[in-house]
Amino acid sequence: MKWDGHTHTPYCPHGSIDPLKKYIEQAISQGFDCYSITEHAPLPKTFHDPVPLQDSAMKWEDLESYLNDCQKLKKEYEKDILIYTGFEVDFLEGYEKETTDFLNEVGPYVDDAILSVHFLPVKGTWTCVDYSPEHFEQDILAPLGSVDQVYLHYYQTYYKAVTAELGKYKPRRMGHLTVIEKFKKKYPSIQKDIWWSHILFILQEIERRGYQLDYNTAGLSKPLCQEVYPSADILVEAKKLRIPFVYGSDSHQAKTVGLHYDQFIKDCL
Ligand SMILES: [Zn+2]
Ligand SMILES: [Zn+2]
Repeated sequence: MKWDGHTHTPYCPHGSIDPLKKYIEQAISQGFDCYSITEHAPLPKTFHDPVPLQDSAMKWEDLESYLNDCQKLKKEYEKDILIYTGFEVDFLEGYEKETTDFLNEVGPYVDDAILSVHFLPVKGTWTCVDYSPEHFEQDILAPLGSVDQVYLHYYQTYYKAVTAELGKYKPRRMGHLTVIEKFKKKYPSIQKDIWWSHILFILQEIERRGYQLDYNTAGLSKPLCQEVYPSADILVEAKKLRIPFVYGSDSHQAKTVGLHYDQFIKDCL
């Protein structure tokens, strides 16, 4: 089954305004059987989005209209493609209650969801890990001292995401495990042993819980990354544990739906 399991929509304030139909038609034209719409879920109302334009996620006031659109398109295209209504949900340490409440509210309408870590508390201040190299350097790298300390903090937080109690609608797929490596060509890791064991703990826990991993090709198009999330050495370990991968283009515009699916076939099928 050809499936794009990670895609965005015009409800994403940092994405394009391409209509949702255009994404779905692109998926159909690429021969996809299955398509998950996974917009960034609205952030907890008590959480302050740390990026300059506060545009990391969809707005609360759009939630109902988003769910209606997904439902409508699912019906409209049912002969051509199986559409899953979904979300990419943020794991925010300390906001588990709000996140669980959200998941319980929307859970009955949701077919598929991803849990991602985009935000890290660094010395008491929330930061976004994949916003820009400048922010990465100033807000994360400088306070933590080295790239490997950044990775360590990130993977410790990611492990908490995997093990978090988020209720019965907790997402079953973990998003872009190595998105912290988005700027790796500028800020390379030099001491992998500082954080590598945490990768193994994460993978073991994913396997034990029967979760899936997002095989996310967005990093291939990022000039300072040029790699899939998760990176090759982690793919090897995940495959040993037989963790299921789901291809995700992480498209924020219609034309990238299905991009690098050939790489997924090579790596995972
Ligand atoms: Zn996004
Ligand atoms: Zn993401």
